[in-house]
Amino acid sequence: MAINFHFDPVDLPPECKELRQEVRAFLREEIAAGSFSPHSGRSGSEKAFARKVGTRGWIGMTWPKQYGGHERSHLERYVVIEEMLAHRAPTRSYSTADRQSGPVILRYGQEAVKEKILPKIASGELCFCIGLSEPNSGSDVFAASTRATKTEGGWLVNGRKIWTSNAHNSDYMIALLRTSPSTKENRRHGLTQFLIECKTPGITIRPIVNLTGSHDFNEVVFDDAFVPDLHLIGEVDMAWKQATDELAYERSGPDRWLETFPALVELVRRAGSEPSERLAEGIGREVAHLATLRRMSVSVAGMLQAGKTIWRPCAACRSASPACCRPARRRRSRPPRSRTSAPIGSRLCPTRSACWRRPAAIRRRIRTTTALRRHCATRP
Ligand SMILES: Cc1cc2nc3c(=O)[nH]c(=O)nc-3n(C[C@H](O)[C@H](O)[C@H](O)COP(=O)(O)OP(=O)(O)OC[C@H]3O[C@@H](n4cnc5c(N)ncnc54)[C@H](O)[C@@H]3O)c2cc1C
Repeated sequence: MAINFHFDPVDLPPECKELRQEVRAFLREEIAAGSFSPHSGRSGSEKAFARKVGTRGWIGMTWPKQYGGHERSHLERYVVIEEMLAHRAPTRSYSTADRQSGPVILRYGQEAVKEKILPKIASGELCFCIGLSEPNSGSDVFAASTRATKTEGGWLVNGRKIWTSNAHNSDYMIALLRTSPSTKENRRHGLTQFLIECKTPGITIRPIVNLTGSHDFNEVVFDDAFVPDLHLIGEVDMAWKQATDELAYERSGPDRWLETFPALVELVRRAGSEPSERLAEGIGREVAHLATLRRMSVSVAGMLQAGKTIWRPCAACRSASPACCRPARRRRSRPPRSRTSAPIGSRLCPTRSACWRRPAAIRRRIRTTTALRRHCATRP
């Protein structure tokens, strides 16, 4: 089946250029004050940094003022995120809430929750995590089996979420839970989204330490954890559309491909002044990918601003990420495996031919490492 992708060409307006300078000045001050290191990405207090960013009005930028937002454009928000990530600023404490949890609450949450939670996110006070993956439902997110059962005044949650990034530092999780079995006609039926306070009795957050010894992932166990009715998000049993929207928010920004940009910079540094032909080709290919992805990503921000549907372009952006920048993929449902089918990236990336044609041109242009360095050092 052929899928048509469309990416509107977008030029950043003058207010974005001014804002970029403002953000750079702020980040320079923060670096000078020792708030974080742009080289190692290490930081002091992520919470304190989040509050400063909140005070500047750079969290919840596009949200209505009545909920603590700032009613600025998606393109302005894009510029702020791009600068933060290019400088390796410690955005971890607020980025999930700013990017996806806040917008989900804004769109589907109950009024009292919007009034209580959104201003706190915008001021940098709240940290959120994402409760989608389970031990038996990873890529196939709609197979979730952690249950929410109706009880008086709310719901009792039982089951397990896994790979929950930063849950141990989070105040809230937005979780996708099973409230009814799926039907034959619609396997996406029966899932509901809830806002869950991480300190609720009955919730245990266990660390999953990775091979390098770092703790970022967690397993979150629910044992009769009570969630009030007020924290139901959207319609019971009908969350698949909301979850798809949430994933579109997750994929729409520059976060996914820029957060690993330092790996490319380091590769160029290590390549030195006389990289082998093969290495220069590889770097050229990655740079070409990134340049293409950036255009796609800015375009998504422009389309969001114009109120267009974006989940398909967002999926393309994420799937087309270059190898050094690509996180684990999440599919909405598990299609049958086929040995002959093309890799998912080639099926989704509308600019694939461009991606593969450009390296030769870029290679010629960036043959010397001096030029290569200049290219990579140019901030978007
Ligand atoms: C850095 C990072 C942070 C994460 N943070 C969170 C988080 O905060 N919250 C959360 O809920 N989840 C999180 N995840 C989980 C993640 O998004 C995926 O859901 C999960 O990693 C995939 O599930 P799984 O490990 O069970 O793999 P599986 O779904 O079992 O997949 C295993 C392998 O099979 C492949 N595969 C699966 N289906 C198919 C198919 N139909 N055809 C071909 N190949 C297929 C996959 O590509 C993969 O290589 C995170 C993952 C990473 C890497």
